[in-house]
Amino acid sequence: MRFADARLEPIREKVEAGERLGRAEGLTLFETDDLLGVGGMADLAKTRREGDRVYFVINRHVTPTNVCVLSCSFCGFARKRGEEGAYEHTIEDLVGMVRDGVREVHVVGGHHPDWPFEYYERMIAAVHAAHPEVQIKGFTAAEVDYWWRRWRIEPKEALGRLKAAGLVSMPGGGAEIFSPRLAKLLKYSGKADADRWCEIHGIAHALGLRTNATMLYGHVETLAERVDHLLRLREQQDASGGFLTFVPLAYQVGATRLVPRQTPPTDSLRTIAVARLLLDNFAHVEAYWVTLGEATASLALHFGADDVNGTLEDERIQHLSGAQTPAGVAREQLFRMIRDAGKVPVERDALYNVVRVWPRDPEVTG
Ligand code: SF4
Repeated sequence: MRFADARLEPIREKVEAGERLGRAEGLTLFETDDLLGVGGMADLAKTRREGDRVYFVINRHVTPTNVCVLSCSFCGFARKRGEEGAYEHTIEDLVGMVRDGVREVHVVGGHHPDWPFEYYERMIAAVHAAHPEVQIKGFTAAEVDYWWRRWRIEPKEALGRLKAAGLVSMPGGGAEIFSPRLAKLLKYSGKADADRWCEIHGIAHALGLRTNATMLYGHVETLAERVDHLLRLREQQDASGGFLTFVPLAYQVGATRLVPRQTPPTDSLRTIAVARLLLDNFAHVEAYWVTLGEATASLALHFGADDVNGTLEDERIQHLSGAQTPAGVAREQLFRMIRDAGKVPVERDALYNVVRVWPRDPEVTG
């Protein structure tokens, strides 16, 4: 591996030796002009773990409501009750959205002003009773923290009861960027801060629930804030060990317009690569096609990503925020993203148990 930027040479030596990178090295990886050098190292780190395998899941996003008490500046999804476009699904609606063949249901919504915690508990129990074969991944740490603020349900009790009702894992949303400066500036200081978000994931891990982690990037954050966010996640993973996947979320400009245009694909590729290099204790880094677009997601499989998420069927949060990608894709489109990158599609469940290894070559029947 040859670099246009000599500062990458000592980083390569550490990556090849499997040594942990520090904050200054993380900043160098974000600042260097040698994007291909960064990508090459991330590809090495990914390939060492997973070879040519790239994961996907047949899943369904279910978004019970977009009614939310908060007004985060980056969010185009939330509505106030009664506002045009606000919606509230019944439990029966949600159960009916899950069709046969789906392996994972992903449940995330707004911070509803009146729905009691028991409503969410009944929701999970009803989906589980109707579709016992489907794994339910649900509720961000921000939602769990909100139930404490609103209903005084301790996270340990809430997550224990949801697990008993059928929850198997948690998504990684609500983390945004761990920065008090940005929380104030972008009006999300009313939700779980870094310590609380990490504490709730630690509680979930102790209960045996696996979880994901995210970072919202490409708005008004600094590169140092991105590095600090990643290092905070790494620290939590060292402490509690239950994160499965890191999912970088590219900010969708939509109507919120914190910046004039979406961050370019080169920035997304770099962010995925730096995440793969810094998060040495995360098993997986995702190329979330919804926010990246299919072409960039496919390219990201050469920049450290080993997962493209899934079919989704009806993604709402990013699309109401302005995402131009389809709201769901067929399995064949996921195959195309993976095979266009020359990788091997591996169908997984919510917990990364392998369901089926598909052939790299579509002409070969597997
Ligand atoms: S990001 Fe979440 S908490 Fe913030 S306004 Fe949107 S739905 Fe509500």
